[in-house]
Amino acid sequence: MPIRYINDLLFCERRAALHLNEQIWKDNQFTTEGLLSHKRVDVPRNRKRGELRDITGMWLVSYALGLIGKADLIEMHTSADGSIVPYPVEFKRGKKRRWDNNEAQLCAQALCLEEMMQVSIPRGAIFHVKSQHREEVHFDDSLRSHTIQAAKRLRQLVDNLETPKAKFHPKCKGCSLFEWCMPKSLRPRATAAKYLEAIISDSLTAQENDSL
Ligand code: SF4
Repeated sequence: MPIRYINDLLFCERRAALHLNEQIWKDNQFTTEGLLSHKRVDVPRNRKRGELRDITGMWLVSYALGLIGKADLIEMHTSADGSIVPYPVEFKRGKKRRWDNNEAQLCAQALCLEEMMQVSIPRGAIFHVKSQHREEVHFDDSLRSHTIQAAKRLRQLVDNLETPKAKFHPKCKGCSLFEWCMPKSLRPRATAAKYLEAIISDSLTAQENDSL
């Protein structure tokens, strides 16, 4: 499973399933800005910056979690005992969001790196491109377990070809799949009877207006 779908899944399970199971992908302003903000870290590079070594566009994998993906930036820090500790940094377009999906996406990268390099990674960061602000994320037990559960749920959705039903939520307004998902159509009040009543009422009003 691509790591980035952990982010989708925690934002909305249906969105992850529409992408992975139904192969529906549509861009909007937010997804396009997201793509652009990743442009400069998408190219594989390995360069020294003072005491740090920066690696961009590095491929990651976890066989334990069945995840694969590319890290935006991995800073190679040197600890007091001289060992190398990777510090993953995920680039995000906007300000910090209310949802915790970015943190879990970053944690999934750390779990991959730990498996690949047999090291322990305590922290990483999310870099908000617009505000140029870096927010540090601690990979504590709770975030690790949340991320592992999300990876398992992602696998379950795909293995069972399960696409959860739409459920309207304020976050739907920023979702690029809004038009295809139609989350308002399944709201309790949006019954077929109400829909037909509205059509009949409109048609009767039009007839009355014509006969005036
Ligand atoms: S429109 Fe809402 S329910 Fe539908 S995929 Fe997007 S976030 Fe999920």
